[in-house]
Amino acid sequence: MTADNALRIRFERIGCGDAPAREDDEETMSDATTTPMFEIENLHASIEDKEILKGVNLTINKGEVHALMGPNGSGKSTLAYVLAGHPSYEVTEGSIRFNGEDILEMDPDLRARKGIFLAFQYPTVIPGVSMANFLRMAVTSVRNSRAEEAAATGGSAQPITPREFRRLMKEKMALLKMDDSFATRYLNEGFSGGEKKRAEILQMALLEPTVAILDETDSGLDIDALKVVSEGVNALAGPEMGVLLITHYQRLLNHIKPDFVHIMMAGRIVQEGGPELAHELEAKGYETLRADVAAHLQLDAAELLAATS
Ligand code: ADP
Ligand code: MG
Repeated sequence: MTADNALRIRFERIGCGDAPAREDDEETMSDATTTPMFEIENLHASIEDKEILKGVNLTINKGEVHALMGPNGSGKSTLAYVLAGHPSYEVTEGSIRFNGEDILEMDPDLRARKGIFLAFQYPTVIPGVSMANFLRMAVTSVRNSRAEEAAATGGSAQPITPREFRRLMKEKMALLKMDDSFATRYLNEGFSGGEKKRAEILQMALLEPTVAILDETDSGLDIDALKVVSEGVNALAGPEMGVLLITHYQRLLNHIKPDFVHIMMAGRIVQEGGPELAHELEAKGYETLRADVAAHLQLDAAELLAATS
């Protein structure tokens, strides 16, 4: 398996296997002190001519943990797919900028190399590929591409050597309190929900993304998986990384304290606040909010209900 294949496999999970080859990207000069890290503006996206995202605005800066909540069908996973560059979705309006650079035309591979990490709800089984091998390929691909870019722009990033990779993997596994034997397991074969999540979190630790987007299943994480995700995010979140945690339930937020909470309904972010908003939502449920939002958007409540049941 080659390094490029490892990344491709990640994207095949979301149907991006035949994403176009990497294109040369143009660097947009930007002032890091004033440019938001990850900026989603008035994002509209459709699938099969059905508009799902209807003007999403969201800004994530380094060191911030954002939670995105909302009822089933509100468009949370769609947003994650669109951010990843899933080819089935068409962005019809708006922009996604990463460090000031428009990423809409970038394929999923390139987005990953730039430092955008997505953990998906449904990881694939890859028989015969050990965890360690898969991770080494994925990390090598991203690191080497960053090193190439650094060489071109006078930066300091270096490609990773096998020895360095082993050291890094040991270090990250210790940080995440993972057993050494985990590295020799075959990828996702017979993994429990918690182990699949552990694999994703380890991958995130090794790739050291600038922005991590985690989409959690609406059917809920089991307790083991919940612990893995929350401990992992808490161990890895830091001043250099921004996190977008997508969750249907408040439960996860008992373990990860977000700085900001956004609530999505019918393809828009309809309410924003601090961690207290998640608790309020837990207490009141989405129903009360739905009526408020319907009134505010001057939508028929029934229409909104149909769109977000
Ligand atoms: P959430 O993650 O918030 O539960 P989704 O993003 O999965 O919501 O879905 C948002 C809406 O998009 C739903 O109404 C869903 O039916 C619709 N949708 C998702 N995927 C497709 C698809 N492939 N074709 C048509 N509609 C879709
Ligand atoms: Mg979803």
